[in-house]
Amino acid sequence: MRGEILSVGTELLLGQITNTNARYLAERLAAAGVFVYHQVTVGDNRERLRAAYQLALSRADVIVATGGLGPTYDDLTKEVLAEVLGQPLVQDDLALKTLEDLFGAKGLAFGDVQRKQAMRPAGAELLPNPRGTAPGVLWQAGEHWVVLLPGPPHEMRAMFEASVFPRLRAASGEHLVSTSLRVVGIGEGALQERLEDLMALENPTVAPYAKLAEVELRVSARAESDAAAEALIGPVALEVRRRLGYHVYGEGATQLHDACGEALHARGLTVATAESVTGGLVAERLTRTPGASAYVRGACVVYALQEKERQLDVDPRKVGDGVSGELALDMARSVRARLAADVGIATCGFAGPEGREVGLAYVAIAGALGEKSRELHAHGDRQEIRERIAQAALTLLWERLRRKE
Ligand code: ATP
Ligand code: MG
Repeated sequence: MRGEILSVGTELLLGQITNTNARYLAERLAAAGVFVYHQVTVGDNRERLRAAYQLALSRADVIVATGGLGPTYDDLTKEVLAEVLGQPLVQDDLALKTLEDLFGAKGLAFGDVQRKQAMRPAGAELLPNPRGTAPGVLWQAGEHWVVLLPGPPHEMRAMFEASVFPRLRAASGEHLVSTSLRVVGIGEGALQERLEDLMALENPTVAPYAKLAEVELRVSARAESDAAAEALIGPVALEVRRRLGYHVYGEGATQLHDACGEALHARGLTVATAESVTGGLVAERLTRTPGASAYVRGACVVYALQEKERQLDVDPRKVGDGVSGELALDMARSVRARLAADVGIATCGFAGPEGREVGLAYVAIAGALGEKSRELHAHGDRQEIRERIAQAALTLLWERLRRKE
């Protein structure tokens, strides 16, 4: 089935909100076996919305629209659909009763504006809204499906998952299942070399997506059931893991700090950070994982040179202009001792944008996992550079945690 996503809302065209609904639907429609060939964004304008529906109906089997479903004057999605389908808007008695009860229970007034929400194009079905009031719409005729969902993302998602996804998947008869393997410490070129034959496969497919200083490898398979798709993915994912070893730090939503945390916890090790250029980002990431208190001791943010000396007592002669591998190593040693942690991690570098050697940085580790400092040249704007340095510090920690096994 060919799909088209229609995002409705002038605020999208003006750049006032990010179109997260389209991103979500694109991924979920693919999982339901619907191939999305076009995404269109259109403002809250009757003529242009009508033209967008007509174009979508001419080239797609499944059209999923979000936004403009509410009761206000600019919410036209349902009305214009009825026009395009040549169907009158009729009142849905069951939906009316449900809405009246809902408003009654909350002690809210129910008037004409609200009553509009219980209208549907004749022949269409209203979809319950588990998270809000405006019901969705599903119209189906032959190969054609038109689905209208509310704009607010949590309402849209809940309705799509409950009332739309299962039906589309049953209709397409195709299940797309994906697994993400998360990879650090290996460049895209080297990755390509090691996985060349796997990346040429057609089902499952293996595709790399570059993220901030890491790569997401997505292994996806199509089959007639989830179990069959998973059976195709299994051996390929296993082979990727075999070839890449510890460079694969996790799967799915796991992030590098989660993987480090789990490994620290499993080995009964604690960690402390001494951060200059990253200003606490490494500790911030490590403490995102629930239960981090089991292995994070704390952090010293030592930005000024004097604070490096005062708080960490690092040798002033090594401080120099405040950036060197030796300095990072001393910071890691010192914070480990001061915070009574098993492992110390440190960062220093130039985040720019002014000055020379922007992006030059050192990350270091000291303590129970041995000692090592690493130089890196991070690129991007100031914030990206800082995030890359934090990621490099976590990568060093991850490598040390895994290498000793
Ligand atoms: P409501 O009943 O709340 O008016 P609605 O279905 O009429 O819902 P809109 O009025 O178009 O939807 O949008 C409501 C809000 O939902 C927007 O202000 C925006 O915050 C969010 N929203 C709408 N469309 C999108 C989108 N494509 N991606 C992300 N958020 C969206
Ligand atoms: Mg609205």
